[in-house]
Amino acid sequence: MRDLSDYCCQNSECSDYGKRGGEKLNWNGWSGKGKQIRMIYCRTCKRSFSERKGTALFESRLPEEEALGILHHLSEGCGIRHTGRLTHHSKDTVNRYAKVSGKHAKAAHDELVSFSPEYERGPV
Ligand SMILES: [Zn+2]
Repeated sequence: MRDLSDYCCQNSECSDYGKRGGEKLNWNGWSGKGKQIRMIYCRTCKRSFSERKGTALFESRLPEEEALGILHHLSEGCGIRHTGRLTHHSKDTVNRYAKVSGKHAKAAHDELVSFSPEYERGPV
């Protein structure tokens, strides 16, 4: 289970939006089927959001272990149908997770890589 310091406010209109550290955040109950997803409350903007908001698992209907199992198989290079057979989910479910995680990975890549120092390449 992750610590509050790993999270940040997800309200784009909040002055603490995107600031990690958790100083202005509190745990605020549970959501989801079986109450397995924690809710986080921002004391700055007084809004609550799911701990999954801003992640590839946001609005996921599967338990975390199953969703991560699908993503793990995909990251290891398994195809959609192969992953579906191994994880006992339909190819449509696997395809949906592939699309969502792909968009999330692209956004993370664009944010992280765009601020990386330039790679200095020597003569070829
Ligand atoms: Zn906030």
